[in-house]
Amino acid sequence: SYYTHLELRKSFLDYFAKNEHKIVASSSVIPPESDKSLLFTNAGMNQFKGKILSPDKLSKTEKIANIQKCIRAGGKHNDLDDVGKDVHHQTFFEMMGNWSFNDAYSKREACELALTYLVENLKIDPDRLYFSYFAGDSKELVDADLECRDIWRDLGVRENKIVGFGRRENFWEMGASGPCGVCTEIHYDRVGGGRDAEKLVNSDDSVVEIWNIVFMSKLRLPNGRITSLGKNHIDTGMGFERLLSIIQGQSSNFDTDVFTKIISEIRNLATKTPPNPVAIRIVADHLRAICVALADGARPSGSDAGFVVRKMMRRAFLNAGNALGIERFAFGADGGLVDCVGESLGVVYPEILENLPEIRRVLREEEEQFWRVVDQGKPHFLRRFEIDPNFSGKSAFYLLETHGLPLEITEELAREHGKSINLQDFEQAKLEARNLSKTSAKTSSSASAENFPDFQNYPTHSDRFKYDYEMIGSDEL
Ligand code: ATP
Ligand code: MG
Ligand code: MG
Ligand code: MG
Repeated sequence: SYYTHLELRKSFLDYFAKNEHKIVASSSVIPPESDKSLLFTNAGMNQFKGKILSPDKLSKTEKIANIQKCIRAGGKHNDLDDVGKDVHHQTFFEMMGNWSFNDAYSKREACELALTYLVENLKIDPDRLYFSYFAGDSKELVDADLECRDIWRDLGVRENKIVGFGRRENFWEMGASGPCGVCTEIHYDRVGGGRDAEKLVNSDDSVVEIWNIVFMSKLRLPNGRITSLGKNHIDTGMGFERLLSIIQGQSSNFDTDVFTKIISEIRNLATKTPPNPVAIRIVADHLRAICVALADGARPSGSDAGFVVRKMMRRAFLNAGNALGIERFAFGADGGLVDCVGESLGVVYPEILENLPEIRRVLREEEEQFWRVVDQGKPHFLRRFEIDPNFSGKSAFYLLETHGLPLEITEELAREHGKSINLQDFEQAKLEARNLSKTSAKTSSSASAENFPDFQNYPTHSDRFKYDYEMIGSDEL
């Protein structure tokens, strides 16, 4: 059956509410000051980290579900460079999730809840679904999760739809240390035809991962050893737009109704024919991420999350202007591209609507500055390009030093000429010139409790989209 994006959200939350889950609002995409481990909220789990890392304080048995705004454009989860190339990664996406804290339900119940939702509620053809489980890792001395394999069998999944994988695919970790555990993933076959799981999962683009269910019962210590967490939690995440594409019979996330408005407006404004589909996806995706990040208080800057926002803006401007032939300053225009994002997401995230004038203002300011730099830098780039047709990292550094042309702009200009810049050479040139050691990475990868805030500190918006039941913030749990 068909669902609009609003209906699918409601269906998911209704289902888990009916199954005794508390429904929690999405937290901000900007983590609180106290959480230095993340640039952006990148999973539904983030706002509940405190529940797991301070088990003495918070050992309540709880069932929770939500739909979380996520941005994966930096840090451990960085999909920035994949966006546009495939049709199922965005930088901004929404993650549907349900949780069992402190053994609120069992592994079997978690699997059954997921399967029932997909097959019985959404009527997804079970023949299209594949299930992976953890097949063991002798090096780490972590046993295979045969219990999970047997659960899927027991729930009626056919043998050729179940497949075991190793640590890379089916062992989830929060960071370099911290809570972790084996997981089981549900994949969907967009083509169908009863194909065997073994040959397909993770090797073919027609099969897309939709739901990751993590059995979080281990703890990786800072010395690398894995011990027991002493508690069993279940942490699940399902890609909202991926599920939506399946429900709406589309083969791409970008062809779902959350994208209709923005994509058609980009097509309208494009003057190059036919417009480049990769550029369309990049502009649509980045603009959504920019609107969400700005609405939650991020601002373009020279470091951290602000820098990622700036980078996404620059890529959006260049792809719109150069690849699609969209006139400059379409982003900040009244009634333009930004409003399309407001129209599709504003019902659910009113903070976007409230901030539309400010989002347009920031985009306009940033775009003016951007084209000034590009216009001044382009002749220098072209001159250098004649001297160095392969465009080395050294040349990129030369443009930065001599003409102040930022690396990302040079990269984009080079990309237009079919060249990619060797970043190592660029760094090398920078090192040689400045004779400085590289500054250390700003994001900490350690996952000790001190690096995480209390979950209460994750900000949410008070003005929330109204469902039939009460939706609470994690500070109200
Ligand atoms: P993938 O392997 O496809 O990159 P993942 O394993 O990195 O996904 P998880 O960390 O398991 O993703 O996140 C849970 C779910 O969120 C995934 O099963 C997927 O449906 C969805 N998801 C993850 N990354 C993205 C993205 N960049 N855009 C849209 N949906 C995503
Ligand atoms: Mg990924
Ligand atoms: Mg994966
Ligand atoms: Mg996964």
